[in-house]
Amino acid sequence: MRLILVSNRLPISTTKENNKLCFQSSVGGLVTGLSDYINQKVKAEGKKNYLWVGWPGSTIEENKQKKAKEVLLKNFQSVPVFIPESQMDKFYYGFCNRTIWPLFHYYPMLTSFEEKYWKSYQQINEVFMNTLEEIIKPDDVIWIHDYHLMLLPQLIRKKFPTVKIGFFLHIPFPVYEVFRLLPKDWREKILNDLLGADLVGFHTYEYTQYFLHCVQRLLGYEHDMGSLIINNRLVKIDTFPMGINFEKFNNAIQNQEIASEVETLKKSLNGMKSILSIDRLDYTKGILHRLRGYEKFLEEHPEWHEKVVFLLIIVPSRTGIDHYLQIKKQVDEFVGKINGKFGKIGWNPISYQYKSFDFQKLVSFYIIADVGLVTPLRDGMNLVAKEFVASKADKKGVLILSEMAGAIKELCEAVAVNPNNITEIANSLHYSLSMDEEEQKNRNEIMQKRLSNCNVIYWAEDFLQRLQQVHDEKNKLKFNFFTSNDKIKLQTDFKTAKNKLVMLDYDGTLSPLVKHPSLAKPSTDTLTLLKELSLLETMDLVITSGRDKATLNKWFSLPKINLIAEHGIWIKYAGKEWEIQKETTNDWRPQIINILQTYTNRVPGSFIEEKEYSLCWHYRNCYQEVAKIKSKELADDLISFVANKDLQVVQGSKIVEIRNTSVNKGTAALSFLSKKDYDFILAAGDDYTDEDLFAALPQTCYSIKVGMSQSKAKFNIDNCGSLIEILKSLLLL
Ligand code: UDP
Repeated sequence: MRLILVSNRLPISTTKENNKLCFQSSVGGLVTGLSDYINQKVKAEGKKNYLWVGWPGSTIEENKQKKAKEVLLKNFQSVPVFIPESQMDKFYYGFCNRTIWPLFHYYPMLTSFEEKYWKSYQQINEVFMNTLEEIIKPDDVIWIHDYHLMLLPQLIRKKFPTVKIGFFLHIPFPVYEVFRLLPKDWREKILNDLLGADLVGFHTYEYTQYFLHCVQRLLGYEHDMGSLIINNRLVKIDTFPMGINFEKFNNAIQNQEIASEVETLKKSLNGMKSILSIDRLDYTKGILHRLRGYEKFLEEHPEWHEKVVFLLIIVPSRTGIDHYLQIKKQVDEFVGKINGKFGKIGWNPISYQYKSFDFQKLVSFYIIADVGLVTPLRDGMNLVAKEFVASKADKKGVLILSEMAGAIKELCEAVAVNPNNITEIANSLHYSLSMDEEEQKNRNEIMQKRLSNCNVIYWAEDFLQRLQQVHDEKNKLKFNFFTSNDKIKLQTDFKTAKNKLVMLDYDGTLSPLVKHPSLAKPSTDTLTLLKELSLLETMDLVITSGRDKATLNKWFSLPKINLIAEHGIWIKYAGKEWEIQKETTNDWRPQIINILQTYTNRVPGSFIEEKEYSLCWHYRNCYQEVAKIKSKELADDLISFVANKDLQVVQGSKIVEIRNTSVNKGTAALSFLSKKDYDFILAAGDDYTDEDLFAALPQTCYSIKVGMSQSKAKFNIDNCGSLIEILKSLLLL
């Protein structure tokens, strides 16, 4: 199995110096984490069975592209996606970092909704697709990363319908109220295109739930424990918190060079305690709030003056965006202000460095710091927090961690703070610097155990195994798809049969479900088809409906058609009058209508459908979350009411129905079967009431469930259109 990793950036940056191409490793959590996984995969398999596809880190002129491609493939298993400089501005600095990044981190005020950025986002996702198209083989596993490429799963799916596709989002997925701020066609396309994957993963349970909620509210797809069936495909949405290479950080101190770096740093601290923070320069990281918290701490705790230093490390990032330049200026000024206000000869309260560090330096900072102060205002995960804890081989040190970071879900023994609360940050600093060693060790021990068990290799393997599982599950979905071979067999059996019975439900089977039952009138095409079918020789055609007699009379007044109304209470044999199947009383109706009316008042958009012997409460057009809860309450109320009556309460597809117990579509079907010896039976239906019909029919019949869900029917087909096609083919025989 070949793994194709797709991310915005390749792990190797390609630049041009003195007209020559240079190749350098790029940094960042995603690249480092995935590289660790790849290295162990290569070791285990003894071969490099993977490719990495992404932007090479700079614009490469056309005459150098061929060479860059060759070197990247040969030396780094990488395939570059060339993006023109002009597009990068609208794509990366535009839609990715001026639209998605701020919105998904809950900064709607900083979010740009420019059409040209959206266009460019679509175009660049297609550019990625064009590159992938030349590479993908049917057995590949494709793992797409992050918010830059959310349209790619569907683009791949269209060209490679059966290939395995996983997608992982490394940033938060916001709540519905925030996500819906995107224009309608953008937000629907993003969701739809993500669902082109077999598996979509998020860092936390909350992000997963928010995504599923958006899918349900904006696209109308219901999920079952995170599984969705979309156009016959199984799509799974799940949580996979990204880990780190625990051993690498935990064993770092054993390296001689790192140990001497640690000694040098310790010496420079001159016996003072240290607080460490490391982030990319970004407004989501809460750097200014953190500085205010530190200022308050120094104001309220003069006893710590000259005894502590704040090591503030900021890594330059997205320098092309105005807002980032602004924060840089504010941070510079704030640091100056604090050092000016509290500093003394020989003591600067903040040691500030604006640059990035390699692993050796970085881990040395983690090792010497007494307190790790990680207070993002919003962060998908935050790997720095995990790396800080992992680096503490002696288990000493305290992590202060924001409640708004995804990492807090696993690092629950950290000192949690609300990053917006300056007083809380100040207090937590004093608390952490004063914490006794025993408690520090207890807390770190538990967190380290978790980080060691759920490291980055575990994360990647867990995701890829789950992707394989979804694929396997899909293959053995309990559905039995009606294949072209089944169709041929059905046609042959139909042609040779002497007595044919075709029983068809109407709503959801011959006609798609609509907002209100009265809008589902059959089209001329459907009526023509039914008429022609009913006129075939030795054919009995039955419409098996839950509708009332009057509607069926109005819609299907064809001389050779048989009708079943109200789920089997009434039968009208072709050319005859309606016959009731069981005399029942209706004295229960007024009270039930009262109950249903109460719920109709409580749930806007719901309504009651009154039939002669049954009542139905519909909630298809309502806000589903509330309506579903209310439908369960209603069913409970009704069940206790009908306990000693000959009635049953059925919860169906966005309906709750009260009907007679002993009559159903199955009993009605038996009335037909008792009259003739049929050697061909076809029955089709889409909901729970049709299950009675499927159960009553003999094994040899063709029973077809319209829709992809569990059924007693022998076959599943995806929608009404497919059934109509099957019926039409019978006329051509
Ligand atoms: N990092 C680095 N060099 C630096 C600073 C940070 O390699 O000078 C790495 C750090 O080890 C971590 C990643 O960058 O793995 C930052 O990831 P995090 O999730 O904390 O924040 P992000 O930058 O992804 O928002």
